[in-house]
Amino acid sequence: MRSVAEAQSLILGLSQPLPPVAISLHPAPLDRLLAEEIRAQQDLPARDRSAMDGYAVRSADLPTGKGELLVIEEVTAGRVPQLALASGQACRIMTGAPVPAGADAVVVVERTRENVPGRVSIDDQPPRPGQNIVTRGKEMRAGEVVLPRGAILRPQEIGLLATLGCRTIQVHPAPTTAILSTGDELVEANEVPGPGQIRNSNGPMLTAQVTRAGGLAHYLGIARDSFEELGGKITDGLKADVFIVSGGVSAGKVDRVPEALQQAGVVAHIHKVAMKPGKPVLFGTFARPGGGGTLVFGLPGNPVSSLVCFELFARPVLRRLAGHPLPCPVGIQASLTEDFQYATDRPTYHPCLLESSGEGWKARPIPWFGSSDLRAFCQANALILFPVGSQKHCAGQRFFVQSMDG
Ligand code: AMP
Ligand code: MG
Repeated sequence: MRSVAEAQSLILGLSQPLPPVAISLHPAPLDRLLAEEIRAQQDLPARDRSAMDGYAVRSADLPTGKGELLVIEEVTAGRVPQLALASGQACRIMTGAPVPAGADAVVVVERTRENVPGRVSIDDQPPRPGQNIVTRGKEMRAGEVVLPRGAILRPQEIGLLATLGCRTIQVHPAPTTAILSTGDELVEANEVPGPGQIRNSNGPMLTAQVTRAGGLAHYLGIARDSFEELGGKITDGLKADVFIVSGGVSAGKVDRVPEALQQAGVVAHIHKVAMKPGKPVLFGTFARPGGGGTLVFGLPGNPVSSLVCFELFARPVLRRLAGHPLPCPVGIQASLTEDFQYATDRPTYHPCLLESSGEGWKARPIPWFGSSDLRAFCQANALILFPVGSQKHCAGQRFFVQSMDG
């Protein structure tokens, strides 16, 4: 049986960023990754610009910082100066307006007074040449790369793309992700379960996980544990970039998902990983007849198994398809807040509450009774990895912890 790390590297080795597509800047392609370099088309600012409201002056006119100058013009943002400054002259100027020729500094309005209209008296430190001026090309030079390939489009990148006048850009698209719940016992959340039935928690939960991981979720509903129903839904699911099936992958009498996937042409690369929860997890690939491939996950149906397997295996895949160079969540070392007795026969991803403190990261284990106990995970924000054996782990001991919220 493979370890989690072996399974992760095998799965990621079979996943490639999706081919780039051209996308408009409206609506904003938030969280997409750039698949091209973006270069400045021109210097920015295009000419010297005032960084403050005040007066553009010649610094040589104010050797002591004090003096009175003739105001020859006013320039607000959006206007251009008509006159060049000669000795003894100033220009009233607003933030963002171009600096007139001849001026080499801006004195802030708070250090000035216009007692007599058309004359400004200045009482400041001697102005430095360039003071309060954003010189041409200071933000970027024509031809310079301002956003590299692979940049994540956060609000600030979107703003910069707008500044540059980009209308369409090349990005890796959000992976389309089909989600299928399986099980004779399942009814949807808005239905009342009959005898022996339970509500389908994994459909909504996995849909939310896919969305949070940057995928485009497409929920296919519930398939009963028959080859006929499974086959039809699997055909639909295999049209997506990623197909996630929950339930039916273990050793039970009606666990028919592995065989149904195989019949549909899916090649299984992994079935079972040395971990708890989620040991029966399956990963396979499917070559779509029209080109392209589908990455397929069979997650054990117990809700916590589905949740944890998604975090460990499917989320990195969605991120890799979206172009992230480092798709795996960052693991950290955190110290236990309290003594904790734990016995397990497989490496176990246990719910915990990860908190930062003055002494670094701390992890508080959350009481948890197993794969169906989703409620415990509502108090948790991270997974703490406990090793095999029956051991008393001591407060302060350090463990690998992986955030589920970051
Ligand atoms: P399975 O993986 O199909 O053997 O299911 C394992 C356990 O998880 C069983 O108790 C199922 O009833 C339960 N289960 C399976 N699918 C779901 C689901 N979509 N929502 C909630 N529980 C489920
Ligand atoms: Mg089942």
